[in-house]
Amino acid sequence: MLKISKFGGTSLSEGKQIKKVAQIIKMDNARKYVVVSAPGKRWNEDNKITDLLYLCHAHLKYNVPSGEIFNMIEERYKSIIEELNLDLNIQRYLDEIKSSFNKNISIDYLASRGEYLNALILAEYLGYDFIDSKDIIFFNMNGTLDEEKTERLIKEKLNKTDRAVIPGFYGSTPLGEVKTFTRGGSDITGALISRYLKADIYENWTDVSGFMMADPRIVKNPKKIRNITYQELRELSYMGAKVLHDEAIYPVRKANIPINIRNTNNPDDIGTIITNEKKNGENIAITGIAGRKEFTVIGLQKFYMNNEVGFVKKLLSILEMYDITFEHIPSGIDTVSIVIDDEFLNGKLEKIIDKIEKSCEPDRIDVFKNIALIAVVGQRMAYTPGVSSRIFGALGKEGINIRMIDQGSSEINIIIGIEDKDFEKAINSIYYEFNK
Ligand code: ADP
Ligand code: ASP
Ligand code: MG
Repeated sequence: MLKISKFGGTSLSEGKQIKKVAQIIKMDNARKYVVVSAPGKRWNEDNKITDLLYLCHAHLKYNVPSGEIFNMIEERYKSIIEELNLDLNIQRYLDEIKSSFNKNISIDYLASRGEYLNALILAEYLGYDFIDSKDIIFFNMNGTLDEEKTERLIKEKLNKTDRAVIPGFYGSTPLGEVKTFTRGGSDITGALISRYLKADIYENWTDVSGFMMADPRIVKNPKKIRNITYQELRELSYMGAKVLHDEAIYPVRKANIPINIRNTNNPDDIGTIITNEKKNGENIAITGIAGRKEFTVIGLQKFYMNNEVGFVKKLLSILEMYDITFEHIPSGIDTVSIVIDDEFLNGKLEKIIDKIEKSCEPDRIDVFKNIALIAVVGQRMAYTPGVSSRIFGALGKEGINIRMIDQGSSEINIIIGIEDKDFEKAINSIYYEFNK
């Protein structure tokens, strides 16, 4: 039996938490390879070490003194060492990082040091080997994962050791430089190791007792989901339920390895199991609700649009020209809308509208800003009549204006566009409609 166990930032934020993690690992002999995040928040207003490292980088880049910020980072690690009573010269590693401080220091290298130091500490505390991710995770020149090399080196290095701690979040480029995944990427590291070592289970330990039907920061005490499919989880995590990085799902799904979300602060709870198949016995029509704010919708109307060959192609080629990916593109006979994440739009909106007017010649263009998207996800939705009318009814009762509706052809989700200001209210009203 082989379990890969990934522990998130809050699970490793201070000595007290690391002691809990060690207990969990020692409880089960199958927990042989452990992936760690950088120390997260100890309390609500606390800082994540990774955020401080990014902040430190910004100071270095603009020649602003960074000493105070790096001191906070040093203090956190030193207090962990002290609390765990470890005989590890952490100062040596901190000094090594400081010695590379200059205006052009790599942002990825600096950001990755949070997990690097934390893995050194946990390895020492457990008496496990430390395996650096730069020696087992590899990217291609274009930034994609070098799957072949990653598989080979994960097998080669980890099969040589019976027990190891591995820092999450980064790997190396063909030039040997550190490169990170996107934020929350330690989940991906754990998924890759699980896949290539053919683990029996990928455990993802965090600060909640599993995946909930809605974000617990928005809905009070939402119901826990016992079983969920990879596909449902991917929809929900992509749409904002960031319990697990959405890119962490593909590798384990490929190898058909179950993911188990567990709570470090409540290890007796069995958490959520994610597999390919929906288990019988859970009769609720929807599995979960998630959402994200800050989208812009561009709506076009043109009489006889449906007869105009290549209209949508023209529209999409404009987005391509500006290197913008779109989220959804719901359409009617003479209308089409494109939904774009504001993150990709920065400063380009006016130029795009201008181009669309010239090249597509629509009768009308409307731009709706500050749009939130909500995804209602459920494998059973396709077989349960009336789900959408219940959703729209619930929103209507609250007086929430629906700006867009899109149902994917897989019928595993319904996407609704509303105004940002209605976001929390909308999630709550849909949640309570299905949990009366
Ligand atoms: P970690 O640091 O362990 O990786 P994250 O902060 O990445 O943890 O993910 C766990 C957090 O995700 C929870 O504390 C919770 O606030 C948030 N979250 C958002 N949506 C959900 C959901 N549907 N179910 C459970 N947690 C959720
Ligand atoms: N520490 C990194 C972050 O905060 C990666 C992770 O936690 O998974 O994004
Ligand atoms: Mg996370």
